[in-house]
Amino acid sequence: MQTTVLHTDEPEHLHRAVAEATRLLKAGEIVAMPTETVYGLAADALNADAVAKVFAAKERPAFDPLIVHLPTKQSLNDVADVPESIRKTVIQLIERFWPGPLTLILPKKACIPDIVTSGMPTVAVRMSSHPIFKRIVQELGRPLAAPSANRFGSISPTSASAVVAELDGRIPLVIDGGACLHGIESTIIKIEPAEPKPMITILRPGPIIPDDLKQYGRLQRHQKHLVNEVSEAPGQLASHYAPRTPLRLLESPKDFIPEHGKKYALLSFCGDADDGYVDLTDWHQIMILSPGNGKLPEAAVRFFYALRELDHSGADEIIAEPLHEHGLGIAMMDRLRRAAAKF
Ligand code: AMP
Ligand code: MG
Repeated sequence: MQTTVLHTDEPEHLHRAVAEATRLLKAGEIVAMPTETVYGLAADALNADAVAKVFAAKERPAFDPLIVHLPTKQSLNDVADVPESIRKTVIQLIERFWPGPLTLILPKKACIPDIVTSGMPTVAVRMSSHPIFKRIVQELGRPLAAPSANRFGSISPTSASAVVAELDGRIPLVIDGGACLHGIESTIIKIEPAEPKPMITILRPGPIIPDDLKQYGRLQRHQKHLVNEVSEAPGQLASHYAPRTPLRLLESPKDFIPEHGKKYALLSFCGDADDGYVDLTDWHQIMILSPGNGKLPEAAVRFFYALRELDHSGADEIIAEPLHEHGLGIAMMDRLRRAAAKF
């Protein structure tokens, strides 16, 4: 299959790209396009055959369910049954965070095919704030199932060229909308009734951080994040988001003793020698996530790009500095642990 990349940098290009994406999606085809988190590979969520093409292109196992992206907030009721016991909280959350990178797990309506939810009775839903994604899903007027546009288990794509590197020849169309705003996949939460406040469990940390959520319920971080989580967030395998080059996450610079003759690449947060990492060895390559002061949102935007670069650097091993585990640092440490778990 020939993969076409359509640009969106001129109004007429954008118009053509949106029209072509909508045409293909209506015809049951799959299209890669930007969201504010990472690039997604979209299919009509109500068309099981179209969704099957997403699984095939990504080589994604059938047990890993997809997130459904809605055209409007109101259309939540078309795909999910919001229980009365948590309705108030769900409305507050979507009023505050949608469109945006917050995914909610809710009981599914029958119209959502089993393939989307891996046969589970719940569906993951969100609404993207990306202007191109929003335009396409609204023009289509149907929900889109859209996981990240990469091969299963590998590094999420945050640019059209990263999508092409992952899926060239497997999908008909990539919409190039430039770099993604957040660079890290959406925060996934589950809400359960409790008194005096509902319980909010973070199944996957992401751009909506615990501080953003705490006023809406009692927060709980899913603790089993490095073991088999089949019942809770099925696709969140211990090993995920992984480069092909072995990756080691350090706890402290003292933990690193270079082996003679081996080429090492460093993923550094600030690139500051005072942190104790950049002078540890004669690095084959260094990627700095946020040079200077170390800003977490900047680091997140560059995170998957930096991992991809290091993966292609020719190093024998990627060494990652630990990040502070607060705010967006929680999401990046989660991805680094999963990347390291493969090796
Ligand atoms: P992705 O679309 O690749 O960003 O990943 C979607 C992830 O959402 C999956 O890997 C699951 O961990 C999670 N997910 C999707 N649907 C459900 C569900 N019904 N219950 C729990 N987690 C889900
Ligand atoms: Mg993914």
